[in-house]
Amino acid sequence: MRVPFVSFKPLERELDREIRAAFERVYERSWYIEGEEDKRFEEDFAKYCGVEYCVGVGNGLDALVLILKALGIGAGDEVIVPSNTYIATALAVTYTGALPVFVEPDIRTFNIDPERIEEKITGRTRALIPVHLYGQACEMDEIMEIAKRRGLYVVEDCAQAHGALYKGRMVGSFGIASGFSFYPGKNLGALGDAGAVVTNDAEIARKVRELGNYGSDYKYHHIRKGCNSRLDELQAAFLDAKLPLLPKVNEDRRRTAGRYLTEIKNPELILPHVSENAVPVWHIFAVRSKRREELEQSLNAAGIGTNKHYPIPMHLQRCYESLGIPKGALPIAEEISETELSIPMYYGMSEEEIDYVIQNLNAFRSAR
Ligand SMILES: *Cc1c(COP(=O)(O)O)cnc(C)c1O
Repeated sequence: MRVPFVSFKPLERELDREIRAAFERVYERSWYIEGEEDKRFEEDFAKYCGVEYCVGVGNGLDALVLILKALGIGAGDEVIVPSNTYIATALAVTYTGALPVFVEPDIRTFNIDPERIEEKITGRTRALIPVHLYGQACEMDEIMEIAKRRGLYVVEDCAQAHGALYKGRMVGSFGIASGFSFYPGKNLGALGDAGAVVTNDAEIARKVRELGNYGSDYKYHHIRKGCNSRLDELQAAFLDAKLPLLPKVNEDRRRTAGRYLTEIKNPELILPHVSENAVPVWHIFAVRSKRREELEQSLNAAGIGTNKHYPIPMHLQRCYESLGIPKGALPIAEEISETELSIPMYYGMSEEEIDYVIQNLNAFRSAR
C-alpha cells in the first residue's frame, strides 16, 4: 500500500463539476481581475470567519505584509513572531523594514508560548504575530491580554488554520487584522497562489485594498506607493466553489487526527498536545521522535509519505545570518526542527490508509 503525504484527488473528484463550472463562468465573462467573483468570495469568506471585511490578495505572505504596512509598521520597529513557523511570517516583517523578534513555542502544542512574550517586548515593539501553527489556535486570551496591556497590535497568521476555533470562536477574528493563505496545500486552497486579509476595521481593509492595487483609491489616482497583489477572478471563483466544503474538510481531518491520537501508541513517539481551548483543523499532523531520520526512512520504505515542518529554524537560515542569532539561542525551535515529522493528513483518507499509517508508526522500533 502507498499513502502519499498529501493528495488533492478526493477533494478534486468531489468538486469536479463546481470547479469546471467556475472556470466556464469566468472564461465566458472574459473578466479576470477585480470583478464579481472576487467580491462574492470576499463576502462569503468574511461571513465564514465571522468578521466584517475580507480583502483578497495575491498570497499569504502579501496578506501579512499589507496588514503591517497598513498599520504603519516599518524601519525602526520590532514585531514579535514565533521562532517555529514557516519563514513567510518573519519575511513579512522584514519586507516592511521592521525587525522580526523570535519568541519560543510551547513544545507540546508547537505554538508561541505566551509566557515568553513579555521578555522580548522593547520600546520599539509594535505588534505580535501569533501563528496558529499546524491548524491549532494559539492561546489567544493570554496573547490579547498582553497586547492590550502593552499597547501592541495583534496580527494573526491564519495561513494554516482556516476554520480553527479558540474557545468556540474562529481564528482570524481576534486581532486587528489577520492573514490567510490559499496556497493549494492549505486547508482551503486555490488552484495557484492566493490569499486574503480579514478584519473588523474598515480603515485597515481600505488601506490593504489600496496598497495591493498600486496604492490607488480609484483608477489612475495613486495615494500610496502600493504594489500589485490582488485576488484574481479565476482563483476567487475556485475558492468560492471550495468554501462550502471547508467545514466537511476540517471535520474529516479531525476524524483522521482523532484516530492518530487514540491509536498511535509507541514510546518512541511524542504526539501533539491539543489545548483544551482549541478545536484544531489539522493542517499538519506533527509527531516528534528522537529517532526522526530513522522513523522517516522506515515510513518512506513502507510507501508512506512524510515531511518536516521545518527542518531549519528561521534564525539558522542563511538569509537571516545578519540577525546574528547563534545556534543554541532558540533551543525549542531547534529541538522541533530536529525531531518533528509530519505524517499523511488530507481530506478523504480512507480508513485503510489511516490503519496502514498507524500500524507502521506502532511497529517502528529504532535500531539504536
Ligand atoms: C503558507 C504560509 C504562509 C504564506 O502563504 P503563501 O500563500 O505561501 O505566501 C504564511 N505563514 C504560514 C504560517 C504559512 O504556513
